[in-house]
Amino acid sequence: MSLRRALAELVKAAPLVDTHEHLLEERTRLSPPGPETRWEAARDFSVLFSHYAFDDLVVAGMPEDDLRALRDAAVMPRDKWTCMAPYYARARHTGYMQNVRASLRLLYGVDDLRADNVELVSERVAALIRPGYYRRVLKDVAHVHHCQVNSLEAHIFQESEYPDLLCQDISFVGLATEPRIRVVSELTGIDIGGLEDWHRAIDWCFTAYGPRAIAIKNQSAYERKLDYVDVPAAVAAPLFARLLREPAGLAPAERKAIQDHLFHYCVRRAAGYRLPVKLHTGYYVGYNRMPLHRLRENAGDLCDLLRLHPQTPFVIMHIAYPYQDEAIALAKHYANAYVDLCWAWIINPAASVRFVKEFLMAAPANKLLTFGGDYMPVELVPGHAEMARRGLAQALSELIEEGWLPESEAPALVARLTSGNALELFDYERTQRQSPPRP
Ligand SMILES: [Zn+2]
Repeated sequence: MSLRRALAELVKAAPLVDTHEHLLEERTRLSPPGPETRWEAARDFSVLFSHYAFDDLVVAGMPEDDLRALRDAAVMPRDKWTCMAPYYARARHTGYMQNVRASLRLLYGVDDLRADNVELVSERVAALIRPGYYRRVLKDVAHVHHCQVNSLEAHIFQESEYPDLLCQDISFVGLATEPRIRVVSELTGIDIGGLEDWHRAIDWCFTAYGPRAIAIKNQSAYERKLDYVDVPAAVAAPLFARLLREPAGLAPAERKAIQDHLFHYCVRRAAGYRLPVKLHTGYYVGYNRMPLHRLRENAGDLCDLLRLHPQTPFVIMHIAYPYQDEAIALAKHYANAYVDLCWAWIINPAASVRFVKEFLMAAPANKLLTFGGDYMPVELVPGHAEMARRGLAQALSELIEEGWLPESEAPALVARLTSGNALELFDYERTQRQSPPRP
């Protein structure tokens, strides 16, 4: 067997820990379609474009009116296809679109979308959605050990029906960087009259969810720089009191000071539960809005945080693409910096292959997490997992062929990169001991 083939088989046989998803709960997908049904729960072929792929269609020139038609459950699959076909042809080589086709093939036995098969594919999309299908798609098709989910359906923590399969992150956006006072007050039963009450509400969330959570997650990089200053409570308290009284009256620097204080407060609470801190870095979902100059500073902005909390592991998500060199430098220099390829394989597959090679030659191999689908629809995870496996096998094969890696070390490295690192960093077993048994 050729080296490339052997590596591909090795990676294919290894279960992947999927360290980042936004998967909707299966019960959401099973609930009857209605006016409130979100596009990511659609029951026709367009669900495969509902997360990420539609961005490439719009950037390829698809008008917003056509995007609205794609999102509309009342529009027939054939008409949706007519809207998008020219733009799909333009964008079909991107990672997002390659993943659409990989998932199509793996789940529905179809190689590509065409005018004459979008109705058939739509029937197969609907037919797959049955009780228990998440486990089949994730375990049997994608060969995933477990997923780590940052749910967008819950404000802080999703009570999953499958806690062994869909481990949950605590989202601390609503606790720190966009304090959701009313929601958290209702959740915790704590009236928020000042910063001390808010601290108690945060503590309540960590007490309730910390033992069962796999990590904490924040994506405030979509709104601000990652230069979190350790602002003391004495400075933050009067600002927080003003935030409660007149939320619109704070200057940007005052708002930042509150966010900074609460961010560090949450990071310290996470340390109490030994939870790694996952941070969005780099590329933005969507189109026509990304302030690239700010993203460029993500890695540099994180240095103070890494120094200030040396016992807390920080996960730099999405390899900080397109500034992945800086992410490698952080993982090489800081013992508590880890880098996650979640989403990266479909943003830019070629860059991700290069990244794995460069990472392994620069930083310790235990600092790299290699797969997260980053999807809301479960149907797109199998294709992404296949692309990640292909890229990983290619990167390792090239390192061996180029003389940088002894072939004899490949099996141990594959085991580490596909699941070993994630199972070392995240305490999956603890989350299982704390979760109620499955019915
Ligand atoms: Zn994400």
